[in-house]
Amino acid sequence: MKPSTATLVLACLIVVLAVFAVLFSTRGPAVLAQDGPADQFSALRALQHVKAIAREPHPIGSPENARVRRYLVGEIEALGLRPEIQTTTTVRQARGRWPTAARVTNVMARLKGREQGLAVLLVSHYDCGRSSFGAADDGAAVAALLETLRMLKAGGPLRNDVIFLFTDGEEVGLLGAHAFVEQHPWADEVGVVLNFEARGTGGPVLMFETSPGNGRLIREFRRAVAHPVASSYGYEVYKRMPNDTDFTIFRRRGLPGLNFAFIHGGTAYHTAQDSLERLDLRSLQHHGECALGLARRFGEADPDSEWTSGDAVYFNLLGSLFLSYPGALVLPLAVLLLLGTIGLLILGFRRRRLTAGGLLLGVVVNLLGALVLGILLLFASRLAFAQGYNFVLRNGWTSNSLHLLGLALVAIGLTVAVYRLIATKLSADNLVGGALPLWLILTVAVSLTAPGGSYLFALPLLLSLAAAFLWYGDRPSETVPVALFVLLAVAAGVATLLWAPTLAVIGVALGAPAALLIGVFVFLLLAGLLAPQLALMSPRHRGWVLPVVAVALGVVLMVTVRLASDYDAANRRTNSLLYALDAEAGEAFWWSLDRAPDAWTAQFLGQTPEWGTTPAFLGFSAPALKNPAPVAALGRAEVELLEEEAGPDARILHLRIDWPFEAHRARVFLSSPGEIRKVLIDGRPIELTAAGDAEAEDARPDFLYNALPPEGIRLEVEVVGDGPLEVEAVGQRYALPELADFSYEPRPAHMMSRSGMIMDSTFVRSVTTLVAGAAGEVHQRSTPGRRTAGSPRTR
Ligand SMILES: [Zn+2]
Repeated sequence: MKPSTATLVLACLIVVLAVFAVLFSTRGPAVLAQDGPADQFSALRALQHVKAIAREPHPIGSPENARVRRYLVGEIEALGLRPEIQTTTTVRQARGRWPTAARVTNVMARLKGREQGLAVLLVSHYDCGRSSFGAADDGAAVAALLETLRMLKAGGPLRNDVIFLFTDGEEVGLLGAHAFVEQHPWADEVGVVLNFEARGTGGPVLMFETSPGNGRLIREFRRAVAHPVASSYGYEVYKRMPNDTDFTIFRRRGLPGLNFAFIHGGTAYHTAQDSLERLDLRSLQHHGECALGLARRFGEADPDSEWTSGDAVYFNLLGSLFLSYPGALVLPLAVLLLLGTIGLLILGFRRRRLTAGGLLLGVVVNLLGALVLGILLLFASRLAFAQGYNFVLRNGWTSNSLHLLGLALVAIGLTVAVYRLIATKLSADNLVGGALPLWLILTVAVSLTAPGGSYLFALPLLLSLAAAFLWYGDRPSETVPVALFVLLAVAAGVATLLWAPTLAVIGVALGAPAALLIGVFVFLLLAGLLAPQLALMSPRHRGWVLPVVAVALGVVLMVTVRLASDYDAANRRTNSLLYALDAEAGEAFWWSLDRAPDAWTAQFLGQTPEWGTTPAFLGFSAPALKNPAPVAALGRAEVELLEEEAGPDARILHLRIDWPFEAHRARVFLSSPGEIRKVLIDGRPIELTAAGDAEAEDARPDFLYNALPPEGIRLEVEVVGDGPLEVEAVGQRYALPELADFSYEPRPAHMMSRSGMIMDSTFVRSVTTLVAGAAGEVHQRSTPGRRTAGSPRTR
């Protein structure tokens, strides 16, 4: 084959494969029609449930949350099943976090199996964020599970029981799932868990988390699902992130399982744009395919079988072509690659294709080129996009894909340019020779520390080594032997198929840092491992056409995407505001976490607000914009000492705390001159040792209570000695206050509240001191100051 023909074929192959790899990796399966086969999942049939669920925001404790719950119960009853309702107070204490309590209500349904054995558990959460409509997170999953339940019921009993768990309070600390495993008897009967989530509004459903020893689970996943999308590198990355879903609760309990989510369109996550209009029906279809396929598969599995085995390495090569191999092969493969690399370098020197100086220069060029290109792209992107960068990356498939494509083109153009500059001084032989040790080091390091990610390095290295053995062999220069051409093409193809979708997903998942990785790996692949291919593709007489065109096209793409991306009613800009009233100090402030006031927040903050640090009673201390606000007549927390039991050296105080305004959640701090030995919330203990965040000097027992019941919180506090108990109570309502002498405009349509549970809220702090022997009184007045527990007073 003539080099020019090889050039053309190779170039076309790589481009076509890259485009297909990214396209397949970023689209879910096609939506099955409403009248499609009855035994297959149809997103259009499940859509009615999303429509019913996502009418209004329905965070835990809200009337809309109760409405969604009634809908779930009604749908389960309509199938002729008896819903199981679990209403309880639960307290969860994650490491380094506040103890978080809530009154949660979980809804469950159970399909009896033909045999007695462990059950398959399918989980999604029906609560959502404060301002989100919860269409994607997690309405799509709830809808997919309701439709799966209907289809399984229609299909007759499976071998094993299948339990459907719709949790409450996921968004405020996984509280529904926690209550289930802690208090519900069905939790002991679960054999395997499937959890369904969303962190955006579209894209394919990624199986992003498994449990330790996942080999068997991965095999079943591949067989049960028509479009399996998962990668063990993604799992390795996720494991190292602080993110949690309900699945965390089950994994910590040692249950095997799989966790699913779609992540495209992340700008809408936990905001008012997580709405029905934005939901990608392909994602709903994909959720359903996974839920139904796996429920059937695990539902028919041998109930006595062992679910955990060795870990697997797994990934999609192209579209639904899903490959896996045992993790036990990772280290032997790394050893093989070590020996292969040494052998190849020896061959290179023997054949005089490598020189010591050339090889060293090859290493340096690869290393420096990759780092410089990565850092350059990162800074250039940051500079060009500033605050809008994550917006471009995460605001839907088109802008994300075109931007990343632009970035990749610039990286490719610059890499080829570097290659052109050095090609006369440094041969492709020495370049690939210099890249191999670097890839080997990466392979060994990743194989040892994160074996699930090793395939990204080991497989391209393996194929490039094979190609390089032929490349270093004797060959006439005017032709490319067919065997060499095939190996070069396969090596380039596999590297492209593995890396193009990986970098694309990193762009969606991590945002800005993707630019760094695109720079580093485009260079290490193209100028390093694929240097022989580049040598064929970029003959010297072609000059600068390829790099210049690639860079220009990339810049044009990125600039176009940036110009086309603007905030409007469909793509809203977030801002933040809250109202904090300290009833003890008799003062109130507006607070904002934005960098500067905008047209809407300026009516609260003024044009030039000062910076301050948010008060500890809000639950977080951060620099923020502040401006004095009118004091609202909201009243303070009512703290009632119901009963006082005297012991030999301590008293047990029974309290009830309630708020005169409709508070949705509350934070409570307790202090006393004597030791506080025990605190029970609605009868459930909190751990006192790890209370609050570790950095606070203030180590008072404290907790956060979500979804306050109408009758208030019941506390039992054991205090040593007969000193007073000081109760600092902060009530939060998910709305800005109505103020007598202060009116304000509603937020314009192109803006929305920032995500999270604290913004657009009213906070009221008050302190109540309970002295010994005052049972039966309602204490609404307080002592002056905050830390005056040492000076008991008489009423
Ligand atoms: Zn969620």
